[in-house]
Amino acid sequence: MPISVQRPLAALAALAAAALLATALPALAQPGPASACLFIHHAGLHTLPDGSLSDDASPAAQLRYSQLLREARQRISDTFGAPQASPLVVFFSQPQGFGRYRLNAVGSAQFIGSRACVLMGPKGQNVDALAHELVHAEIHHRAGALKRWLQLPTWFDEGVAMQVDYRPRYALAAGDAANASQVRQLNSFGAFFAGDEQTVVRNYARARYEAAGWLASTGCHTLYQRLARMQAGESFAEISAP
Ligand SMILES: [Zn+2]
Repeated sequence: MPISVQRPLAALAALAAAALLATALPALAQPGPASACLFIHHAGLHTLPDGSLSDDASPAAQLRYSQLLREARQRISDTFGAPQASPLVVFFSQPQGFGRYRLNAVGSAQFIGSRACVLMGPKGQNVDALAHELVHAEIHHRAGALKRWLQLPTWFDEGVAMQVDYRPRYALAAGDAANASQVRQLNSFGAFFAGDEQTVVRNYARARYEAAGWLASTGCHTLYQRLARMQAGESFAEISAP
C-alpha cells in the first residue's frame, strides 16, 4: 500500500517542483527572489549565530537582526503557538537587494518546493513585517508546499499573516467592514495582488478582518492542527468548520 500511495505522490511532487522551477527559471536572466532562494548559499552572505544570513556582518547589525527574530517568533508564539518552520532568513541592507539579486525592499517569503526563504530588506526590518513573512513560512510548513500552493486561498494566507502584522496602514477603512467578505473571492495570488497599490492595501485590510473572524470562530490555538488536517487531505472548507 505505501508503494501505490507514494508513487503518485512522488510523481505529483516532482511535477509541482518542475512547475515551480519553471516559474523560477525565467527570473534567472534578471535574478529575483526565487533564484535568490534557490542559490542563497552561493551568494556570499554572512551566517549569524542564530542561523540567519546577512550581507552586513557588523556586530550592531547582528544584534539587531537576532533581536528582531526573537521578537517576531515570540509574537507568533503568543498568537498561534510556537512556530516550527525553519526558513532561511536573510536580512539585506540595500533597498535593491544583495549581490546580483533584485528584491522587494520590504520583504518577501519565497518557496521553492519544500525550501522556504524569508528575505527581509531595509524597509522591512521591523517585527510587523518579519512576523508576517514568518507566518507565511509557518503556513507552508504546516499545510505542506503542495496544499498551500494548490488549495489554500491567498486571502486566507495573507489574512492569517496579517494577525501578527500591526502596521496601521493595513487597518480596515471606516465603514468597510460590510464589504470585507468580498476578499474571500480572491483565492489566487494573481487575484489578490491585481490592481493598484490602494487596492492591494485594501485587500490586506479586508483579509486581516476576515481571517480574524475565521480565527475567532475556530480558535487561534487550533490553526496549526487545522493546517495539518489540510496536509493530510481535508479541504479548506472542511478545516474551516468551527
Ligand atoms: Zn504576505
